[in-house]
Amino acid sequence: MVGIQLHQVSFTDEGVDKLLDLLQEKGAVNTIFFSTFSYDRGIAGRQMPGHTFPDHGIRESDESFFHGGNYATPHAQFYQKTAIKGEKLRAPDFGKLDLLPEVLTAAKKRGIKVFCSVLDSFDYPDDIASYLNEYAEVDLWGKKGKAMCFYKPDVRVFWTSLVTDLCSSYDIDGILFFNERNGPLTNTIGANFDVGFDPSRITCFCDDHKREATKAGIDFERTKEGYRKLDQLVTAALKDKRPSDGYYVEFTRLLLAYPEITAYHQLFDRGKHQILEEIYATVKSLNKNLQVGFHIEHENSFNPFFRATRDYEDLAKKADFLKVVAYNNAGGERYAGFIRSIGSTLFRDVPLEELMRFNNHLLNYGAEPRLEALPKAGLSPDYVYRETQRALAGVKGKCKIYTGIDMNIPIDKNSRFASADDTYAATRAAVLAGAEGVILSRKYSEMMLANLEAAGRAVRDAADTKVRSLQ
Ligand SMILES: [Zn+2]
Repeated sequence: MVGIQLHQVSFTDEGVDKLLDLLQEKGAVNTIFFSTFSYDRGIAGRQMPGHTFPDHGIRESDESFFHGGNYATPHAQFYQKTAIKGEKLRAPDFGKLDLLPEVLTAAKKRGIKVFCSVLDSFDYPDDIASYLNEYAEVDLWGKKGKAMCFYKPDVRVFWTSLVTDLCSSYDIDGILFFNERNGPLTNTIGANFDVGFDPSRITCFCDDHKREATKAGIDFERTKEGYRKLDQLVTAALKDKRPSDGYYVEFTRLLLAYPEITAYHQLFDRGKHQILEEIYATVKSLNKNLQVGFHIEHENSFNPFFRATRDYEDLAKKADFLKVVAYNNAGGERYAGFIRSIGSTLFRDVPLEELMRFNNHLLNYGAEPRLEALPKAGLSPDYVYRETQRALAGVKGKCKIYTGIDMNIPIDKNSRFASADDTYAATRAAVLAGAEGVILSRKYSEMMLANLEAAGRAVRDAADTKVRSLQ
C-alpha cells in the first residue's frame, strides 16, 4: 500500500486525471487519502502561509478562500439523530463543488483506492465554534474552548453520522480518522512539542465529563483541586521558582496525593478512544469490507508519557490499520521542542542535553544527534525503521501498520527540510522494517516532485530487494 494524503485543492489546481497519472507514475501511489473533513491546514489547503510553495500547482496563497469543513456533500438524512447538522459543516471553499465522485471514478479506472480522511480539530474556526458552542470543551477555569467534547452525546453521534454519510453516499474504500487532541495531564505539564503551555488546553471539565468521572468513581472536585495545584507548580517553574524539594519530586508528590490527576487524564483518553471504537463499529456495520484506520500522532514516538497512554495491541482491536507517524526530518525540530518543553517544567533541574540522552534511552532511540544539532540534522532513517518495528511488535499482527513518511513537512527555516535522498532513505527504512504500507504525508500540496519520485523509487527498489532476498 503506497498512500498519499491530499486535498481537493490539489485536484482543482492540477486536474484530476493529470494528477492521478503523476502520482501513480512518479510516486508508485496506489491509494489516496482524500482530506474530506478537516478544518486543519495540516491535511487541507495549499501550502501553509509563510512557507515556500512546492514546484507544482498554483503557487498562490489560498488564505482568501480557505475555511475548512466537509468537502464532500453532506446528506441531511444521516444527521437526524444528532443536533449537529452535517450541512452546517460543509466547507464553503469551493461553493457546491464536490470532486469526490469524479476522483473516485478516475481512481478506480487506474486501480487506485480512495479513503476519506476525517479530522477532529483543536480549534474550530470562529463561525463554526460559535455553532458548536453548546458542545465545546470547558477548561479548568470554566471557560469554553473551541474543540468538541468527546462525552457529549450529540458529538459522538455526529462522528458516526459523518462516516455513515461518507460510506453510504460514496463508493470509497474506507476511513482514516485523525484526532491529535491530548488530555489534561500532558497539556498542563507541557509534554507536547508545539502546543506549549496554553491553559485553555487543560480540558475538559464540562458537566458531561463530570458525569463520566462520577460514574468511574473519580472525585470531580478533588480532580480540579489537583489540576489547579499542578498548574501552579508549572506556572512557578516557568518563573524559575524552584520548590525546596525540586520540580520532579513536587510533581510526583502531587500525583501521589491526587491520584485523580492521572485517573481523569485517562478518562479523557477513554472518551477519545470511545469515538474511535464507535466509528469502527459503524463503518463495519455498513460494510465489513471497508477499512478503518487511525492516525497515531507524532507525540507517540518521542513522548514517554504519551507512549504510556497508547497500547498498540489495544488500538489494533479498534482498527484495520494504524498510520504511525514517523516523520524523521521534521521530527528533529519536534523532538527538540518536546525536550525543551518538558525540560522547562518537571525536569527543569536536569540539563537539557542530559535529559535528551536519558529520554533516548527510555525510548530506544539509538545514536541520534545532540539536542543543539537535532533540528538541523533531523532524526535518522533508522528512527523510521525502529518506530515501524515497534508498532509491528506492538500490534502483534492484529492490524496493519502503515508508516507515515515526512514529505517536506513545513518547519522552521533552520530545521531539516526533507531532501529527495532523505525521503528515499525514510521510505526504504519503513518498507524494509516490514510496514504493510507507507502514507506520504502530510499533504501533496506541500511536497516537492523530486521527493515524490524518491518515495516511489524507494518502494520499487525495496520490493526488488525483498524479491532478491527470497530467491
Ligand atoms: Zn467534556
